[in-house]
Amino acid sequence: MMGTVFDVSRFAAEKTPFYYYDLALLGKTLEALNKARQKYGYHVHYAFKANANDRILEMIRAAGLGADCVSGNEVKKAIQLGFDPKQVVFAGVGKSDEEIIAALEFGIFCFNCESLPEIEVINELAAARGLVASIALRINPNVDAHTHKYITTGLEENKFGINPYEFEEVLTRVKDLEHIRLNGLHFHIGSQITDLTPFKNLCLRVNEINHWFLQKGYDLPVINVGGGVGINYREPDKEAIIDFEAYFKVFHDFIQLRPGQQLHFELGRAVVAQCGSLVSRVLYVKNGINTNFAILDAGMTELIRPALYQAFHKIENISNTAFADMKYDVVGPICESSDCFGKAVNLPLTKRGDLMVIRSAGAYGEVMSSRYNLRDETRAVYSV
Ligand SMILES: *Cc1c(COP(=O)(O)O)cnc(C)c1O
Repeated sequence: MMGTVFDVSRFAAEKTPFYYYDLALLGKTLEALNKARQKYGYHVHYAFKANANDRILEMIRAAGLGADCVSGNEVKKAIQLGFDPKQVVFAGVGKSDEEIIAALEFGIFCFNCESLPEIEVINELAAARGLVASIALRINPNVDAHTHKYITTGLEENKFGINPYEFEEVLTRVKDLEHIRLNGLHFHIGSQITDLTPFKNLCLRVNEINHWFLQKGYDLPVINVGGGVGINYREPDKEAIIDFEAYFKVFHDFIQLRPGQQLHFELGRAVVAQCGSLVSRVLYVKNGINTNFAILDAGMTELIRPALYQAFHKIENISNTAFADMKYDVVGPICESSDCFGKAVNLPLTKRGDLMVIRSAGAYGEVMSSRYNLRDETRAVYSV
């Protein structure tokens, strides 16, 4: 399936840099996702932290997905935009009292809890309001996601989740907490996982843990396996929409659910990454000792992933469609050496004023932008 087509003449009048969102592609992605999940009866919550742009969120809500939030403000935004509170989950290792209270008052579906002290605080705050909080235990399954170390979350050494050696203690305590209802188990092993094997390994761990809880007398209605399925950054047009069917099938094949047990997912990147591109103009081309620099008017303030995670994004010159027979280091204007989008990037002869697109930037792009160096607010332009 073909990805985004860029209309250079339409961009000519736009002030750069800006995010360009291909909403038709987002619509097709949501259709493919819904078709695949409905086949198995799975529930999907969209991870707000990947992209919290209103236009995008509205399409996602209209497609019937739930909301996976990691802050009180994300929970508030979900409710404001009309997401059903019964489809809102709230995760995070450091939920503040204020955030917990807001989520309790909205009556969200589930708090994904990461420690016993957190569960105690939720119990206390719920008790003070005469409410019962429905929670899932975020479990650290010790499954290696084989992704970048900053986006691996499911290993014992990470700060996330409750470790199996703590289960007994947690259950003993939770039994006495009258304003807590333990309703599920939650897992999330990392992000940008492109090989499906870690998900198979996750299923096998989930089966063991699910069985352990049953033996302790907990037949929990919800299993939430998080998100993290990766996308193709190298060839965004070859794989504009991931194979959701193959992804869900791994869970269908390897996870053992009991009758009535629901399977939930939290997907961020796979929903929104390919529909967004960062569009920028070349300010200067400068010759270096070993290389030429193409200096853009976009920088790490608009898209920090390359600087933060050494992430790869495909870069294209859409003003010159000639053969890419030159190499440039493509950099931004910010006063940091890490403000570099790509080294030795194959490009055609590139000059001042050319429009450049940085592809697959719809996830963890606009939402992570900052005003460092007092840069302008990041803008967005839409395909329709
Ligand atoms: C970030 C996050 C997700 C989404 O991850 P993606 O890689 O964008 O799919 C899901 N669940 C939790 C708990 C997260 O922190």
